[in-house]
Amino acid sequence: MVEEAASLDALKDLRPLGQLHDSFIIAAGRDGLWLIDQHVAHERILFEQVLRASESNQAERQSLLLPIILPLTPAQDAEYPRIAEELERMGFEIEPFGQRTLAVKAAPAGIAAGEIERVLFEVLEIADQELRKATIDEIRRGVAATVACRAAIKINMPLDMVKMQWLLAELAKCELPMSCPHGRPIALRYSLREILRSFHRI
Ligand SMILES: [Zn+2]
Repeated sequence: MVEEAASLDALKDLRPLGQLHDSFIIAAGRDGLWLIDQHVAHERILFEQVLRASESNQAERQSLLLPIILPLTPAQDAEYPRIAEELERMGFEIEPFGQRTLAVKAAPAGIAAGEIERVLFEVLEIADQELRKATIDEIRRGVAATVACRAAIKINMPLDMVKMQWLLAELAKCELPMSCPHGRPIALRYSLREILRSFHRI
């Protein structure tokens, strides 16, 4: 626990050194060497942003030139009303369009147009599986996690130093910077102690 707190503190002044496999940021910290998964790190940053924005009703949205017409299965159609308000708070603007069909007129900024349909289907799937026992808060977090995952930078993507610095600085500002909304680790840390020991220096 003490070590955990020290790590969180060290996160504030990480210096990116480069990228491994176009997927992991290698960074030097005062407490050792860090490897950060760029996708889950960005996902955590966006997740907290999306949640904050939805709580204050200030989600940034992008209007679509052409609405996306989304036919629903009967099951999806039955679940939709329960998540409609959450989707609205996240930045979606969706209207009924005939029978069992939705017209999506706007979506949260940051999601590529080609991903919007997929995000909605994923959210409806969460709803379908878990809704009956899920609280509003869980639904909200589920929607935010899906939006964040789809909008986050992917692995296998080269990043320049400026982007890496930005990502590390934003991560340091997160409330829970060490694990992604799905519980995966964001960072691996090799402490100076471990490194010194491995080189037989202590
Ligand atoms: Zn993800």
